[in-house]
Amino acid sequence: MRRPYNFSAGPAAIADEVLAQAAAEMLDWHDANGRSSGMGVMEMSHRGREFMSIYEGAEAGLRELLAVPDHFRILFMQGGGLAENAIVPMNLSALRHRNAAPGEADFVVTGSWSQKSHKEAARYCTTKLAASNAGSGHTTLAAPATWEIGAGASYVHVCTNETIHGVEFHELPNLAALGCDAPLVIDFSSHVASRTVDWSRVGLAFAGAQKNLGPAGLTVVVVREDLIGHALPICPSAFDYKLVADNQSMYNTPPTYAIYMAGLVFAWLKRNGGIKAMEERNIAKAKMLYDAIDASGLYENRVDVNCRSRMNVPFFLKDETLNNAFLAGAAARGLLALKGHKSVGGMRASIYNAMPITGVQALVAYMREFEQTSA
Ligand SMILES: *Cc1c(COP(=O)(O)O)cnc(C)c1O
Repeated sequence: MRRPYNFSAGPAAIADEVLAQAAAEMLDWHDANGRSSGMGVMEMSHRGREFMSIYEGAEAGLRELLAVPDHFRILFMQGGGLAENAIVPMNLSALRHRNAAPGEADFVVTGSWSQKSHKEAARYCTTKLAASNAGSGHTTLAAPATWEIGAGASYVHVCTNETIHGVEFHELPNLAALGCDAPLVIDFSSHVASRTVDWSRVGLAFAGAQKNLGPAGLTVVVVREDLIGHALPICPSAFDYKLVADNQSMYNTPPTYAIYMAGLVFAWLKRNGGIKAMEERNIAKAKMLYDAIDASGLYENRVDVNCRSRMNVPFFLKDETLNNAFLAGAAARGLLALKGHKSVGGMRASIYNAMPITGVQALVAYMREFEQTSA
């Protein structure tokens, strides 16, 4: 069976192989030596030997794939990216104060997601807008040297891939080079594991799993050790990075099945060459799609070429009356979930790791055909 190509922004496509393995193990999970547990993963105690091996395998898999240095902790949490918008300021905004009082956090707004982060953090600490691309309709990225970062910032937040507007940082800002010693916090939800990460520039990174790592319900947090242990007194215990880290993400019951599924995705990524190979494939996929858009008379992408996302490609039909016909024709050819986010309109093709190159080829072929027949 060849399934349709799913261009959903999230929850998003998962590789067939991964789903097939999960299905095969649904009633009876086997360990690496083929020893039967007699249970499905959802039914296991999170503290049992079987699940501990799944947990440790997932953590080690992610650490190896993303080359996470030893002085960073990997936390498996819940609540998604939006919960981290509150959890991060509750844990980091007092970094500059030894008296656990909230300080200031600075935000670079580049689209809907960083805007939400900025707004939510203001409930817990002082916030400062260091830069915003709202004037361009969220289609540009200002050079970090132009950002106005406060001297008292406890951290600086950026969303390194704006899932809705299709704006991506192709290089992480080097805050130290700008004379800023505050840690950089990145929301990398929608491009995690699609490219390598320069951890020397990062203090904390968080990602909801449902874009590129597996099913919804798991939030991955990668945090430098010295940033742990500064939570505000109001921070819920289950969201205090220190308690989560000290208890190996098992202060409360972690999202066990989602961790298992993410572990299968990490193993699949490794079998397919790891992050470097994935990044090369993602560059090729994105180039194919943007080239087709730029070469056409019907389609357009409005994002500056230097910050176009490799993962989320929003595009418009210059004749918007054709939108419904375009989507119907796409669905008939097994090209699903191409409708753009309601706040932007038009179309959006999300081409995460699990989207094979043949899926992008099929989309590009359909776009050409549609342009020719509707002209
Ligand atoms: C999807 C997404 C989120 C929100 O994640 P939830 O799991 O819905 O809370 C946050 N940030 C980015 C960049 C996203 O793409």
